[in-house]
Amino acid sequence: MNPMEIVFTNAKLADGMLNDIVVQDGRITAIRPAGSDANAANVVDIDGATLVPSFVDGHIHLDTSFYGDKWIPHKSCTNGFDVHERVAFQAQNMAVAAPMDERARNQLDLCISNGTLQMRSHVMVDGSVGLKSLETILKVREDYTDIIDIQLVAFPQSGILKSPGTPELMDEAIAMGADLVGGLDPLSFDRDIKGHLDVVFGIAERRGVDVDIHLHDAATLGTMTIEEICARTTALGMQGHVAVSHAYGLGDLAPEAAKKIATLIAKSGVSIMTNAPGNHNFPPVALLRAAGVNVFSGNDNIRDSWWPFGDGDMLRRAEIIAYRSGFFTDEELNAAFDVVTSGGAKALRLEGYGIAVGAKADFVTLAAEHVPEAVVAIPKPRRVFKEGRLVAENGSVIR
Ligand SMILES: [Zn+2]
Repeated sequence: MNPMEIVFTNAKLADGMLNDIVVQDGRITAIRPAGSDANAANVVDIDGATLVPSFVDGHIHLDTSFYGDKWIPHKSCTNGFDVHERVAFQAQNMAVAAPMDERARNQLDLCISNGTLQMRSHVMVDGSVGLKSLETILKVREDYTDIIDIQLVAFPQSGILKSPGTPELMDEAIAMGADLVGGLDPLSFDRDIKGHLDVVFGIAERRGVDVDIHLHDAATLGTMTIEEICARTTALGMQGHVAVSHAYGLGDLAPEAAKKIATLIAKSGVSIMTNAPGNHNFPPVALLRAAGVNVFSGNDNIRDSWWPFGDGDMLRRAEIIAYRSGFFTDEELNAAFDVVTSGGAKALRLEGYGIAVGAKADFVTLAAEHVPEAVVAIPKPRRVFKEGRLVAENGSVIR
C-alpha cells in the first residue's frame, strides 16, 4: 500500500471490463481488474462509467469568442462567404465586447468542464491588433497551467503580406511564447503562395516550431496549396510537425483525386484538422484515415463573428463529424472518437497521452456503455481528472 497512490476503481475501459487505474504522481502506474487493490488508501469510485482519455481540442480561438458575454447576432456576408468581410465584422464586434481575458476564461471553463484538457488555440497576430491579443492569452494560459495544456499559434488573421509588419510580429510572437506559426489562405488572401509560405516556414525553421495553417480555399486552389505545404514539409524534414486546418478543398474532390492527394499528405506527415462545419464541404475523414493521414478536430469558433454555434464539447464534435461523414458502424463511431482524442494527441505531439501505463492520468468519465454509444448519446454530467486530480464535475471547473 502506497499512501501517495490513488486507485480509480470500477472504470470501464475499451475492453468492456471494469478496471482499477492506479495513479501516482499524476501518472498511470498500473491497470488491473477492478477490486485488485482492496487495501488502497485513496480510492475514487468511477461507478462503472466508461473512462476515456481527455479530449483534445486541436483548433479553437480563445481570443475571439463571445461565450459568456452578451449575444452578438450573426451578420451575413453581402455576397457569399468572404474571409475579408468576416474579418471586418469581427473587428466591429470585438470593439464592443467584454474584455478578452474574461471571454477567454469563460470559453476555457466551458471546454474543461466538458472534458478537454489539451488544446491548440490560434491567436490573432497582425497589423491591426499587433501582439496585444497574444499578451492577454499568454496571461490566461499561465493561470490555467494546472488544469489544461494549451498550445498557442501566431495566427495572421489579416494575411501576412497584405498586413504590413506581420512577418516581424509573428516572429516576435514566437519569441514571446507562442508555440506555433500559423498561416491563412496563401493564394486567395495574400495572392502569393510562395511569399506567404516563405514567411511561415522561414519562422518555423529559424525558431524550431511547428506549423498550423488555416486553409479555407476550395477545390483546386485548396489542393494546390496543400501540395505546396506537403513539399515544403518534406523538404525541411518537418513530417509530423505541420497541420492544415479546414482543408475544405479536399471535400470538393472526386474520390480518385482525393485518394491521390491523401497519399501525398500521409507521406508528408501533415495532419488535417476538420470541425465538419455545416456550410462547407469538408475533408473525407474515412478516406484520409484509410490512406494513413492523421485527422484531428477542434471546436474552432464558439459564438463568435464567424458563426453562432459551439458548446465546447469535443464529444459533440465527434458526433457532428460522424453524422456529416455518414458514420454508422461501431468502427466508424470509434473513428470519429479517435479524431477528437488520439488524432489530436498525435497532431499536437502530446507526451504521455491515453489510458495506458506510463501515461498522464488525464481522463473523463462518460455515462455510456462504450465509446460508440457515447458518440451518439453525448452523455453528461462528466467527471474530469487532470493528472489524477478532479478538475471539473457537473459542468463546472473546480478550483
Ligand atoms: Zn480557425
